Amino acid sequence: MFAKLRSKNKIIHTRARFFAPSVVDGENMKIGGLLKFSLIDYPGKMAAVVFTQGCNFRCPYCHNSELVEPEYFCDPIPEDTVLDFLEKRIGQIEGLVVTGGEPTLQKDLIGFLTKVKDIGFPVKLDTNGSNPDVLREILKLNLVDYIAMDIKAPLEKYVQLTDLKDCAERVQKSIQIILDSDLTHEFRTTLAAPVVPVEDLPKMVSLIEGTKKYRLQRFIPRDNILNKELLEGIPENFSEEEVAGFQSVWGIGGN
Ligand code: SF4
Repeated sequence: MFAKLRSKNKIIHTRARFFAPSVVDGENMKIGGLLKFSLIDYPGKMAAVVFTQGCNFRCPYCHNSELVEPEYFCDPIPEDTVLDFLEKRIGQIEGLVVTGGEPTLQKDLIGFLTKVKDIGFPVKLDTNGSNPDVLREILKLNLVDYIAMDIKAPLEKYVQLTDLKDCAERVQKSIQIILDSDLTHEFRTTLAAPVVPVEDLPKMVSLIEGTKKYRLQRFIPRDNILNKELLEGIPENFSEEEVAGFQSVWGIGGN
């Protein structure tokens, strides 16, 4: 099934190679969305969420085509609008989540995080781990308080799943940077049968040995995923109960 999906994936991945950025152009952050209040995106905190535009991966199960495929990008929300909003919410929310897309592709991520920290908000950063150098710099400058990194697949399957060459080594470096830091973090995997089968879990768990938190999430089939052919695999998708069972066996630190 995986090979079948891959061969059928050609159109999506041809576009991906053409568009997939290594950095998102522009001096300011390209912000495609602002969720003003969330109780579920920053563990233990009421937070706002900023969604950045652009991603260098093309995970077939991705729900965020409006943040991944440039032809679907909306006009970016000006960075100052977000910063003004945050200043007005001091005392009302407890943190900011920066997610994507892939936030570490943003040229001005460090400048933006510095401004958010100056306002006084704790920051959670979601990343696919493809930019260890950016991650190292952010940690060195103490610009984030929580990191959530996706583990997409065993290392040898990364290129196949994400369609980004040479990403496995970078992902491995990012994992090590996070594990070597004192930062509160979590790793997480979307189980999307048949492209991310449960048989891959032991290898993924071995990549993050030493972590205190590893969370499994269920692929939710929706019409807006990047590779709609994955929907043909729905009968093989895991139920919520199955994913809860896998979490109890392979997950670390609860959900
Ligand atoms: S799931 Fe995340 S890493 Fe994968 S394509 Fe979507 S935004 Fe990028």
